[in-house]
Amino acid sequence: MALIVQKYGGSSVADADKIRNVASRIMTARKRGDDVVAVVSAMGDTTDMLIALAHKISAHPDPREMDLLMSTGELVSSALLAMALREMGQEAVSLSGMQAGIRTEARFGKARITGIDPKRMQQELQAGKVVIVAGFQGVTDDLEVTTLGRGGSDTTAVALAAQLQAARCERFTDVEGVFTADPRLVPEARKLKDISYEEMLELASYGATVMHPRAVELGAVFRVPIFVGSSFSTAPGTLIHGGALAEPAHKVRGIAHEMHVAKASVLGVPDRPGVAAAIFAPLSQQHIRVDSIVQNVSSDGVTDLTFTVAQSDLPGVAKLLAPVVREIGAKGWHTAEGLAKVSVVGAAMRTTPGIAARAFRALQQAEVNIEMLTTSEIRITCVISASHVPQASRALHRAFHLESMEDAGESRLA
Ligand code: ADP
Ligand code: ASP
Ligand code: MG
Repeated sequence: MALIVQKYGGSSVADADKIRNVASRIMTARKRGDDVVAVVSAMGDTTDMLIALAHKISAHPDPREMDLLMSTGELVSSALLAMALREMGQEAVSLSGMQAGIRTEARFGKARITGIDPKRMQQELQAGKVVIVAGFQGVTDDLEVTTLGRGGSDTTAVALAAQLQAARCERFTDVEGVFTADPRLVPEARKLKDISYEEMLELASYGATVMHPRAVELGAVFRVPIFVGSSFSTAPGTLIHGGALAEPAHKVRGIAHEMHVAKASVLGVPDRPGVAAAIFAPLSQQHIRVDSIVQNVSSDGVTDLTFTVAQSDLPGVAKLLAPVVREIGAKGWHTAEGLAKVSVVGAAMRTTPGIAARAFRALQQAEVNIEMLTTSEIRITCVISASHVPQASRALHRAFHLESMEDAGESRLA
């Protein structure tokens, strides 16, 4: 008998029938003899609806009230799932993040889990119950309710699996696993049998919503195997793990895309030590994630500095930049919206030359202009116009033969 943590996303609990479907899947695991802790997201688009509702009431809703509001979505689905299990004759209890003992830092909207007290969950499991935990939420030391950021129920599930030393974490959603690209955008995308934590982390951090990046990070740190599969089928899914992968047939494992990207440029920045720190320190203090930083070659002692941020952070960036630009004596600044990122990810990039050249050629042939670039050892990201994302993703997918089992010019070694 094993303990497994299962997570069901919003589309999997979108209505009463789907909640019953989730309950019967949990019953199957129980009949196999496993103990189950199930983490659920809010039903369907509930979180989006709650956010829209808040903005009808207030242009700048109070972050504390926002978190309390958003946490209610997951409470609804948890309680309903517990009822569905009881209807099937299975004892079950739903717990809010606070009741499940999930502590977080005191940062509304993007809180990180600082600790989990598993006592209550363990008692309920010992009593033979299925434990259902409302995803995406926790509580501060002052008992303020916090949320973990959009998509954060994945993180709740992996954190619980780590704390409870579960045999594995199973994340069920509306697709059959992790694909070589978002199947909604690239119809020829192929399901991966497995993928390493580090590759999944890059894909998730650069837009693959199928896993929350923080969840992958926790999985890697605590070595929790994460299985991704469909709530609506029994097809084999994808295993995210840290074991040595067989030499992958493809040097590039996947393509990710991220929409709603904006850029900000600071113009005529004096070329002296300390100015980059003066620009970026206030942004980091406000937890604004800056990416793709480009500094032009300096001429006449001044330079231009451009960087990207999430579109939703742009108002915050504008507020912070105005005084900094004056303080450092730069000539001015401007911002632009309507951008996106497409990324090519693969651990074998470390040892394989020519991946960047192939990606750039593919984008050129698809007539996609690259505005900015950023790379890691295993990722190349191009900032492009948002309207070019579909053609860019498909062109990159084709260029690396991701639709086929074998990479052209490479033979499978394993
Ligand atoms: P849930 O509600 O279950 O949390 P999400 O909508 O957050 O589901 O994540 C599942 C979605 O992630 C899929 O419907 C798919 O469109 C998207 N997605 C993006 N990239 C990928 C990928 N590489 N593989 C599979 N799905 C992906
Ligand atoms: N309901 C939250 C969201 O929509 C958290 C989650 O689903 O993971 O972002
Ligand atoms: Mg999600």
